[in-house]
Amino acid sequence: MISDKMSKLLERSAAMSNMYTEGARMKAQYGVENVYDFGLGNPNLPAPDIIRETSIRILNETDPWYLHHYMPNNGFVEAREKIAASLNRRFGESYGADNIIFCTGAAGGINCLLKVLMDPGQEILTFAPYFGEYDRYADNVGCTLVAVPANIPTFQPDAKEMAKYITENTRAVLIDNPNNPTGVVYSAETIQAICDVLVAKEKEYGHAIYLISDEPYRELVYDGATVPWVPDFYKNTIVAYSFSKSLSLPGDRIGYLALRNEVEDFDNIVYGVAVATRIMGFINAPSLSQMVCAECCEETVDISFYDRNRETLYNALTEYGYEVAKPQGAFYMFVKTPVDDKEFAQKAKEYRMIVTPGSGFGCPGYVRLSYAVNYAMVEGSLPAFKALMEYFTENK
Ligand code: PLP
Repeated sequence: MISDKMSKLLERSAAMSNMYTEGARMKAQYGVENVYDFGLGNPNLPAPDIIRETSIRILNETDPWYLHHYMPNNGFVEAREKIAASLNRRFGESYGADNIIFCTGAAGGINCLLKVLMDPGQEILTFAPYFGEYDRYADNVGCTLVAVPANIPTFQPDAKEMAKYITENTRAVLIDNPNNPTGVVYSAETIQAICDVLVAKEKEYGHAIYLISDEPYRELVYDGATVPWVPDFYKNTIVAYSFSKSLSLPGDRIGYLALRNEVEDFDNIVYGVAVATRIMGFINAPSLSQMVCAECCEETVDISFYDRNRETLYNALTEYGYEVAKPQGAFYMFVKTPVDDKEFAQKAKEYRMIVTPGSGFGCPGYVRLSYAVNYAMVEGSLPAFKALMEYFTENK
């Protein structure tokens, strides 16, 4: 018999699993090309060719013992040096290998980091809407996720509002930028305002409040948008990066944490994450992926593909009367629903469409569309979106 705790977690995860099985069932019934599945954030672009070429070269050229054996828990030193050099070049950092910790995707990195930073009973602050797994990550370390309500309609976090939610117990703030589920890019002004509040609160409470900037979508931006480099704004920042989306490698489980030496308790955090990586069972991030991504860390998938989907969906949906904050990043769109979000998602299935209710991201009244899908599907879905809006307008 499984634990009560896991039973409860399974109930909460059921929506995601149901969506997956429901999608598979609908595709079997109607044919893949006749189902408009905007449910999961699974990149549909293949990894760039250079990933395969680099992998093969590394496999051919590297001593197999070296490549496949246990290594320092934070990863190969020379691979971390390459990531550091890239961040130094791009963001003016002065990182060396010690400032980079390879992890099993952003998810693995954040979980190890929280294990190091948080004591049970403490609070992690975030902004709605937020990546739905954050609740579970907080729960993994016996902590509570406190969400500042969404700042509608811009979805730029409201720092003044945030100040009301920080308590003596708040030890970390978790932001995801560009944001999943809205695709909104938090601006430099927003980040500055958040950091000003954090500086004041650190002073008030006399302890560090770490800002974890979760950035798997950093490279996926449109319209010339730039994602602020958060360590420039706040001393106690730790960046969690992932190659899952920028290189379409979610199955390879590879990313890194990056932090400056000046972060409070730097040595213990770095050593702590190494130990957490071990005792949480990851041991180290996948070795081949470390080497490949270190060499390819400035490559990206062809984002013009996502951009075309974004423009087509945004233009059509707004024409049909939907309210959407135009996303400037990631591959998500957060659409206001004319009725309750779960009811909308349920009705959408009758039109062979799968969307994710915003409730799962701490923001009911919206649905998330993941447009990491082929263009034919985007085009095919438009009449369904139109018909859905007409249905709800007629049946108010
Ligand atoms: N953080 C955010 C905001 C995400 O959207 C995701 C995945 O979708 C993750 C973390 C986890 O990604 P990874 O595959 O890097 O663990």
